[in-house]
Amino acid sequence: MRRAPARLGQANAKPPSGYDARQMDHAVHVPTLPGASFRLPPALDGFRRLSYNMWWSWNPRARALFSRIDGLSWSRYRNPVEVLSQPIAWSELLDDPAFKAEYTQVLAEFDHYMAGGQEHWFNREYGASLAGPIGYFCAEYGFHESLGIYSGGLGVLAGDHIKTASDMAMPFVGVGLLYKHGYFRQTIDADGHQEHAYPDFDLAKLPILRVLGQDGEPLTISVELPDRDLYAAVWLAQVGRVPVLLLDTDIPDNAESDRPVTHILYVRGREMRLHQELVLGTGGVRALKALGIKPAVWHLNEGHSAFQLVERTRALVAQGVALEDALERVRSTSVFTIHTPVSAGNERFDAELVRRVAGPLYDGDSRKGTGGVPIDRILELARGIDGDAHQLDMTALSLRLSNAANAVSKLHSVTANDTWQGLGNKQILAVTNGVHMPTWVGHPMRHLFSRHLGAELDNIDAHGGIDSFWERTDQIPDMDLWEAHQRQKLELMIFARNRLRHQFARHGEAPGTLEELEDALDVGTLTIGFARRFATYKRASLIFSDIDRLARLLWNKDRPLQIIFAGKAHPADRPGQGVIQEIFARSRSPQLRGRVFILEDYDMRVARFMVQGVDVWLNNPRRPLEASGTSGMKAACNGVANLSVLDGWWDEGWVGDNGWAIGGRDNNPDEGAQDYADAQDLYRILEQEVVPLYYTRNKDEVPEGWTAEMRRSIASTIWKFSTTRMLHEYVERMYMPAAGLEAKKPAGRRTATEAG
Ligand SMILES: *Cc1c(COP(=O)(O)O)cnc(C)c1O
Repeated sequence: MRRAPARLGQANAKPPSGYDARQMDHAVHVPTLPGASFRLPPALDGFRRLSYNMWWSWNPRARALFSRIDGLSWSRYRNPVEVLSQPIAWSELLDDPAFKAEYTQVLAEFDHYMAGGQEHWFNREYGASLAGPIGYFCAEYGFHESLGIYSGGLGVLAGDHIKTASDMAMPFVGVGLLYKHGYFRQTIDADGHQEHAYPDFDLAKLPILRVLGQDGEPLTISVELPDRDLYAAVWLAQVGRVPVLLLDTDIPDNAESDRPVTHILYVRGREMRLHQELVLGTGGVRALKALGIKPAVWHLNEGHSAFQLVERTRALVAQGVALEDALERVRSTSVFTIHTPVSAGNERFDAELVRRVAGPLYDGDSRKGTGGVPIDRILELARGIDGDAHQLDMTALSLRLSNAANAVSKLHSVTANDTWQGLGNKQILAVTNGVHMPTWVGHPMRHLFSRHLGAELDNIDAHGGIDSFWERTDQIPDMDLWEAHQRQKLELMIFARNRLRHQFARHGEAPGTLEELEDALDVGTLTIGFARRFATYKRASLIFSDIDRLARLLWNKDRPLQIIFAGKAHPADRPGQGVIQEIFARSRSPQLRGRVFILEDYDMRVARFMVQGVDVWLNNPRRPLEASGTSGMKAACNGVANLSVLDGWWDEGWVGDNGWAIGGRDNNPDEGAQDYADAQDLYRILEQEVVPLYYTRNKDEVPEGWTAEMRRSIASTIWKFSTTRMLHEYVERMYMPAAGLEAKKPAGRRTATEAG
C-alpha cells in the first residue's frame, strides 16, 4: 500500500512541536518509532535509550558497559544495537552486582547529561532571545565507525560540530542523508591495487530510528521532479541532545531507478548527483517543516546543500513574499562554511541539467502551486568566478545567499578570499576547525588530565576557555605522561599487528612472514603515523624521495624508526590509487619491509588508534592546498608531536616548541623544486631533531625532552583546536549576527577574536 507522503503545509495544521524558545528545555524533540525489537529485562530497560543515542560514542564507560554485555559481538560490530540484537545471557548479568552497579551509574550519567544544559553560558546568554534552533546541513556525518555515512574530514568535522553543540546544550538540529551503502570499504590486493566494496547496511540494526510525522505515521517527504515525485523516508540519529535527520530514498514509494539516489556518498552520475543534492537541500527543509522545526539560523556546511536556499525562497514566495524580498530574508538568516581551497574542488552542475530537472520544482508556472522562483534568477546567483553562464556553481550560490561565510583556517581564509573576491561578496572570515576532545583523546590520557589537572574533557568550557589553564600540563609527572602514551601506543600496535596478520594471510604470505609480525611494530621503536585520503597533493610518498637515506633511519641499530600508513584514495582518483600502490610496494620491498606498514580500510576507528598511539604525526601536503586538516589536532591533544608542512591549521598551530615545521612559508612555483626542498628538510628534522630527542632517556628511561614536546602539544591544542572553541566562534561571529542578536561576551571569558 502506498503511504501518503507528508505534504507541505501539513505542519501548519498543528502548533509547532519541535522547538519552543519560551520553554526552558531547549532541546529539539523528534518523535520516532521504538526501534529494533530486541528484548531487555525490565531492570535493564535503560539500555534501549542508551543504545539509540550516539552519546556512547564519546563516553568510554558506556562503551565498556556494552562490551561487558558481550565482548565478542561488541568488538565485531562496535554498535550497541547489534550487540543487543544478539542472544544474551541476561540472567548471568542480572546476578552480577558489579555489572548492575556500573549500569546504574552510566545510565545516571547519561540521564544527567540529557536533562542538563540550562546552566550552560549559551543558554544564559541567548536562550530566551533565540527564536529557533540552528539548522545545520551537511552531506556527510562521521559520528562513529558503526554509522558509515561519512567519507572523511568533512563528515568527521560535522560529527564533532554536532557533538559539541550537544555538549553546549545549544538548540540545534542536523540534516543529512542516510547512505545505505555508505562509503567504500578498502582492501589492498597482493599487487597493491586498492579494491572497493560497498557495505549493505541493515537499517534496523543501525543506531538510528524512524521519524514520525505529526500525524503519528512514519514521515516521508517528497521532492517534485519533472515527471514524477521523489520520496525520502526520514530517520533520526540522536547525538546527545541534538537530533540529526537523515533522508533515505531507498523506499518502495519510489520507482526502482530512484531508490539508489541516496545509496552512496557523492554518487558520480551528474543527474543522480543533482537528485541527491535536491533531496538534501529541498527535502531537508521540508522534513524540518513537517516536524514543525523552524530554524532561526541555517548553516550550510559545504555547498552540497545549497538547494536549501532555493527551497526556502520558494516557500516564502509561495506565502506571497516578493521574490527579491524572499531572497534577502533567506540570505540574512544563512551562514556558509567553505571547505576547499581551490575553485576546482567546488561542485558545479550543468545549467541545462538544472533547468530541466529543478526548473519546474522551483518555478511555480510549470507545476501549479509549487512555488515561483525562476530558475534563471538562481542560475544568475550561482554563476562562478569565471562567469560561465552554463554552470551552476554551488559555492557561488552559497556565498551570494549567506549573511556570512567562513573558511576553516586562517591561511585558508586568505586563499579563499583570493579565489572568490571577484564575486563581490563580503570578506570570508576564518573560523579554524577543531576536534571534539572526548571523541578523540584516548582513555589513558583522558584519565591523566582528570587526575592531575582536574580537567574534564566533557566540559572544557568550564575551564575558562583559555589556553593558560592547559599550561598546567606541567603538573603531570613525566613518568605518568610517558606511561599513558606507551599504553595508547601498545593498543595501536596490537590492533595493527592483528590487521596486518589478516592482510598478509589474505595475500598468501608464507607462515614465516606472519611470524615476523609478532616482533614487528615494537612499542620501543619511534613510530611515525601518516593517515589521510591519498590525493596526490598530500605527497604521501615524499618520505620515499631518498630510499637509502630513509633506510638508514629505519634500520639504525640503537635508534630505529618505523612508519605506519593508512588511507583511502577516491574510487575515481587513479593517481591517488597509484600512491597507495607505491607505498604498498615499499612496505614489501627488501630494503624497507618490517619498518613500513600500510593498514587497510582507514575509518574513524583506525584513525583513533593511530592518532592516539603513534609518536609523530606526519603531514606534508603541497602548501597551500590543505584547507585545515584535523587529524593533526587529534594527534596533538593525545601528546603526539606533529611534524608538518606549515599548511592549514598547522600554519597557526605550530608555536615552535610543540612539534616541527617542514619547510617555510614561501611557495615555490616549481613543484619539483618544492618537493625536493621539503624532502631534504624532512630528513634533516628526523635525523637531527626527532630521533635524538626521542632516544635520549633519563635514569628512569623516560625521554624528558620528548615529554616536553608532548606537554606543549597538548597545552597548545586542547582548547585552541577544540570544537568547543570553534563553536564559540560560530556563535559569536556567524550564528548570532544571522539571528539578528548581539553577540554577548560571557563574563570571565575572552571572546573568540581575542582568544584567536
Ligand atoms: C579526522 C579524520 C579525517 C580528516 O583528517 P585530515 O587531517 O583532514 O586528513 C579523515 N578521515 C577520518 C577517518 C578521520 O578520522
